[in-house]
Amino acid sequence: MIMKINDFFRNLPKKQCKECGNEIEEQHECYGNTCDECQHVTDI
Ligand SMILES: [Zn+2]
Repeated sequence: MIMKINDFFRNLPKKQCKECGNEIEEQHECYGNTCDECQHVTDI
């Protein structure tokens, strides 16, 4: 089965913040399921 890596990522659904529902920019994998703002809130 041949699958281009670009197609794989393009088919991935965009992450959504579980706290506020904002779209998450996937810059850091450590973000998990929360957006930047919510991440700061929980980052104690
Ligand atoms: Zn959020």
